[in-house]
Amino acid sequence: MAVNEASAAPWGMFGQDAAVAALQQALDSDRLAHAYLFTGPDGVGKGTLARRLVAALLCEAAPDARPCLECRACRRVEAGETPDVERIAIGGVCDEGGPAHRDHAADGSTRIRICQVRRLERVASLTPFQAPRRIFILDTADDLQREAAHALLKTLEEPPSFVLLILLATDVDELLPTVRSRCQELALRPMPDAALIAALRQRPGLDPETAGELAAEAHGRYGLAMRLHTDPSLRMLRETAEADALRLASAGRNERFDYAATIAARWSRERAAVLDTLDAWRWWWRARLLEASRGEPGPVRCTPAEAVRALQAVTTTREHLLANTNPQLALEVMMLDLPVLAAPPEDPREETREAVAPAQP
Ligand SMILES: [Zn+2]
Ligand SMILES: [Zn+2]
Repeated sequence: MAVNEASAAPWGMFGQDAAVAALQQALDSDRLAHAYLFTGPDGVGKGTLARRLVAALLCEAAPDARPCLECRACRRVEAGETPDVERIAIGGVCDEGGPAHRDHAADGSTRIRICQVRRLERVASLTPFQAPRRIFILDTADDLQREAAHALLKTLEEPPSFVLLILLATDVDELLPTVRSRCQELALRPMPDAALIAALRQRPGLDPETAGELAAEAHGRYGLAMRLHTDPSLRMLRETAEADALRLASAGRNERFDYAATIAARWSRERAAVLDTLDAWRWWWRARLLEASRGEPGPVRCTPAEAVRALQAVTTTREHLLANTNPQLALEVMMLDLPVLAAPPEDPREETREAVAPAQP
C-alpha cells in the first residue's frame, strides 16, 4: 500500500503531495500566482518543485499529463537549458559595467547582490521568447542582500502579467516580511521515515538496508537522501560532523576554538560543506533534545534546556555566516554558547556484551 502510494508520486515528487496538489489546482483553473515562496529545510525538494512547476508550464504532453518529465521541453527544464527561465543565486551575471561586476561567481560573493536583482527587474520587463511566462527562480531568497530584497519588492508589487517569480527559502524568518507577504507561500515538510524508505526503495538497485541508512541520515528529506546516495563524500562529511559534535560536546575551550578556526578557514572556499556540517549538527542536537525530553539514554548526558541552547547556537551561527559576519567570530561565539557536557559514558554496548557474556551457553 505504502509503496503503491509512493509510486503514484505526482510530478515525480515524493512526500510533497499537498504542495503539488495546490499548484496543480492553480494550473488547472488558470489561477497561477505571480510569485510563489517555497519554504522548507535543505534537501526537502524546493528546487525540484520549482523545476517541476516550470516543466508543467512548458511540457508538450496532453494537459492532464503535464509535466510528463519525458518530452524535450521537460528534459530541457530539468537540465536548466530553457531560455525564458533564469535561476538567480549567489554569484552570477548582472548588467553593470566595471571590473567589480564582471563575474560575481568568481568574486567570492556570499549574498545575492542588488545588481543581480536590478538585472532581474530589467529582464522581467521583456516579453518571453518561447514560454508562456518569463520565470525567475531565486535560490535562495535567504541569500538576498538586504538592499537586494528591497529592490525585489518593486517587481513583487507590480509584476508584469507574464512574469512568474519562484522564491525558495530555508529560513523563512530571515526574509523581509514585505517580501514574504507578497508571495503565495507553500511549506514543504520532511516526510515520515517509513514513507521516505518506501520512496527510496523505488530506485533500482537500492537495497532495503541502504534505504534505511539513508532515511536515518536524511530525516525525511528525499533530496538529501538522494544526494547522500550519489555522493559518498557528503555522507562521510556528515558522519564526521556528527562525530565532531559528540567530541566537542565535552571538549574544553581550547579544543573548541581550534575547531572553530578550522571551520572558519573553510567557509570562504567550501561554503556548501560548512552549511552541510551545520545542518548535520542541527539534526544531531535535535536527536539529543528528543532523547533528553523522553528520558532516553543517548551518546551524551544532557538536559532538554541544554539541547535547546545548542540548537539555537547552531541556528544563529548559520544566520550569522550567511549574513557575512566574521566567520571565525561567529563560530567562536557558537563554541561558547554550546553547553559543556560531562564526558560521554563508555560505549554501553561493550558493557552489555560483558554483562551478558557469562550467561550465554
Ligand atoms: Zn513534458
Ligand atoms: Zn554586479
